[in-house]
This record gives sequence, C-alpha cells and structure tokens, in this order.
Amino acid sequence: MHKSHVAIIGGGCAGLSAAATLVERGYQVTLFEASSQLGGRARSVAVETNGLLQILDNGQHIFLGAYSETLALLKKAGVDEKQAFLRLPLQINMQSSAGMPAFKFKSINFLPAPLNLLFGLIFCKGLSLNERVNAIKFMRFLQTTDYQIIADKPLVLFLINNLQSKKLIQYLWEPLCLAALNTPLEKASTRIFLNVLRDTFSGSKHNSDFLLPRQDLSQIISEPLARYIQHKGGTIKFNQRVRNVTQTDNGFNVETRNGQLPFSHVVIATSPVRVAKILSKLPKLSNVGEQTETYQYQPIYTIYLQYPAHTKLPAAIYGLTDATSQWVFDRGILCDQKNLIAVIVSAEGKHQKLTQDELAFEVAKELNRAFPSLQKPLWHKVIAEKRATFSCVPKLERPTNRTSLPNLYFAGDYTYPDYPATIEGAVRSGVYCATLIDSI
Ligand SMILES: Cc1cc2nc3c(=O)[nH]c(=O)nc-3n(C[C@H](O)[C@H](O)[C@H](O)COP(=O)(O)OP(=O)(O)OC[C@H]3O[C@@H](n4cnc5c(N)ncnc54)[C@H](O)[C@@H]3O)c2cc1C
Repeated sequence: MHKSHVAIIGGGCAGLSAAATLVERGYQVTLFEASSQLGGRARSVAVETNGLLQILDNGQHIFLGAYSETLALLKKAGVDEKQAFLRLPLQINMQSSAGMPAFKFKSINFLPAPLNLLFGLIFCKGLSLNERVNAIKFMRFLQTTDYQIIADKPLVLFLINNLQSKKLIQYLWEPLCLAALNTPLEKASTRIFLNVLRDTFSGSKHNSDFLLPRQDLSQIISEPLARYIQHKGGTIKFNQRVRNVTQTDNGFNVETRNGQLPFSHVVIATSPVRVAKILSKLPKLSNVGEQTETYQYQPIYTIYLQYPAHTKLPAAIYGLTDATSQWVFDRGILCDQKNLIAVIVSAEGKHQKLTQDELAFEVAKELNRAFPSLQKPLWHKVIAEKRATFSCVPKLERPTNRTSLPNLYFAGDYTYPDYPATIEGAVRSGVYCATLIDSI
C-alpha cells in the first residue's frame, strides 16, 4: 500500500476508471459521488410505469469495438463481454417513413479492415453508383491523409467539399456524426469526427463492430467496477457532493457537507458543468473553470415505448430517415425487455419544443409508419438528458489532465482531446490520470 491517499470526485466512467486503476496499483482511494448512484451519464434508472417498477437506462448507449480501454477495464472487473453485449459488424439499416428500406449498409465481415468497409460501400443499397464511388474515394482519401485535416471546420462543409451528396450525408454521415458526436453536422468538429472514423475503420476489422448492451448499464459498468474497487480496498462515499477543494501543506482538503478530509492527490472527475464550482478556492486553476463555463451542451432524448405482446422488430437496431426519431432499438431482442422499443433523438432540434408526451406520440406515429405492423404503444417514458454531452465543435479548448497544481488532475470525457463525449473518452482520461499519479 502506498502512503498516498487519492480523492476521486465523481463516480461516472472517468472517476470509476481512475479509481479502479489506482486500487489495482495499491493506492488508497476514496471516491466521492454526489448522488446515491454511480455511473453518471451512463447509468440505469428505476422508473414507475403503469404501477410497475422498471429498470431503464438513462439513455440507450452504443459501444464500439474500438473502445479498447473500456473493454479491457470491464474485463478486469469481471464483465463477460458475451453476456454484456450483442456484438454486430457495423451495419446501418435506414427505414423510410413510408415503411420501406431506404439504405442498407453492412461491413463485409470476412474481409480485413478497411476492405470490409470499402466492399460494404460497393454493395450497399439505396445509393447511386456515382454516390457509392464518391463515398469510396472519400474513404480512400481519408486513409491516405491518415484522417488528418489542416484546419478544423464544421463537418458539413468538409463533406460537401469532398463531393458527398445530400443522400450520402443523410443516410451515412449524419447518422454516424449524431451517434458519435451528438452535435449537428453544421456545428460538428471535422477533426474529432475523423479521429473516431480513424479508430473505427483502421486496425482490426472488429474496431467497427457495434456493441449493444444486453444488460442494463449499471450492471455492465458501475456495479462491477464498484465491486472491483471495494474488493481492492477502495472506499466509495455516496450522497457526498464535494463543495470545494483547498490546498494544504501536504496536499489538499476535500470538503463535503460532513466536513473536510485530507488527501495527498485529487482527481476531479465530474462533468464539465460542475468543475468551476469545485475550483472556487483554487485561484490558480480559475482558467479551467472559465474555459469549461464557455462550453455549450447538446441533449439526448430516449423515448421508451412499451408495445403489446409479440411485438418484435426484424432487427435489433434501425435508423429512420426523414423523421425526428434517429435510432430505434428493440430491447426485447437486446436485453429481454420484451415488446419494449427505445428510440434515440440526439442533438438539438425542433423536438425540444415539444412536451414529453407530444414527443412520444410523434415518435410512435413515425414508428408506425416505418413498421406498419406495430400497434399502439401501451405506455411511454421519455428520459431527457438536457446536457448529455458537450457540443463537439471545431477548435474546442479542452483542459489537460495534468494541472498547474502538482497532484491535482482532471478526468472526464471532456478532457480526452481526441474524442467527443463518449464512454471511451471518459475511461481513457481516468486511466491516464491514474497512470500520471503512479508515474511520480
Ligand atoms: C443519454 C445519453 C446517451 C449517450 N450515449 C452514448 C453512447 O451511445 N456511446 C458513448 O460512448 N457515450 C454515450 N454518451 C456519453 C457518455 O455517457 C459520457 O460521455 C460518459 O458517461 C461521461 O462520463 P464522465 O465520467 O466523464 O462524466 P459523468 O458521467 O457526468 O460523471 C460525473 C460524475 O460526477 C458526479 N458529480 C458531479 N459533481 C460532483 C461533486 N461536486 N461531488 C461529487 N460527485 C460529483 C456526478 O453525479 C456523476 O456521477 C451518452 C450520454 C447520454 C447522457
């Protein structure tokens, strides 16, 4: 056991990853979580619907095969990937509002990357030959430029400059951009989008696999990680919102409603929204507080619709075109929540003006048009995460994990400079902070 005692503020993916890595290396760790539950923006919630208690995720999440740190960490914590996820080779099935397949793309599983993608594009349905050739040329161009651009710009401009047609954008690039960056094309950072494409489409062909949760998110992420941390001697304090951190001669004091506790190291692993407040008594870091205060945020709405018995979609995941609904998941196929469909509406848009009931009715109507066999839902539940992710815009300034105060670090999705707000970005930042502490 090291003499150091590390305080980790926040029990989302970043804080849990930092804590798990540090306890593994023999550090004494205390994790403070403001709420009664771990997981942060990737958690399960118990909701009452029609008098029944139901466990739902705060948002339907998609993991990628390229989430190498996340998958390695979960494995360490005892998560069996096959039990936790349905792994599917990258595929996009876009259903039109007229109930017809509009676009079908499937990467060719027996080919190595990037041929799996290029041949998938050759054989995709719903695009003209010219559009398919332009998509393949674009991917080849990205490979030869190593997915780098000189000056970052809104993704829509980059796509248009590279001859991506309206349909290609609508069927392929926009759904991928919304899923990865949760930011409208007109605002999204090309550089960050290309980083995601690079890690997804180069290296192993399995990097582009979709991993769809088969269990609820807390079962997959926070519960196994919490067990691992506690088993290795770490302490987790629930309902302990950290008010501020102050510097002392030997380290830091961390203040909660229960008073102050001393630590040698601190990792601030909250979402960016909470950072400025925690830094209020550390004037040397006020620049980070000011930086994060300028961030804009994007919402994600998840609309759960419970249908009568024997409701099943032909596949686990669909995209919808010309609709408010973007991605549709059959939770019966995925996690045995029979007859339950989850619909994602990401990023800002007109839907934010609707009440939750209006949005659910709109989505149910769209589903009924796209899949005419669906009946009327029995109930719905809308979970609105208003600040689901930071807006991933060009040239967004991100704080580094290391700060100008020795032994104080930032972790969190917003600190991983290569990625948008994702689980993998959060996990990588947490593991990296732990490595920085351990390297001193
Ligand atoms: C609806 C939705 C859908 C998403 N879909 C995907 C997806 O498909 N794929 C993907 O990769 N990512 C997705 N994301 C993004 C992903 O969930 C986040 O990027 C990731 O969970 C962020 O983790 P984090 O640890 O950085 O922050 P958070 O999860 O925000 O964790 C911060 C933690 O700090 C705690 N905290 C805050 N203030 C204090 C304080 N003062 N004291 C103590 N504790 C405090 C909070 O309670 C929270 O538990 C989605 C997010 C949402 C909301």
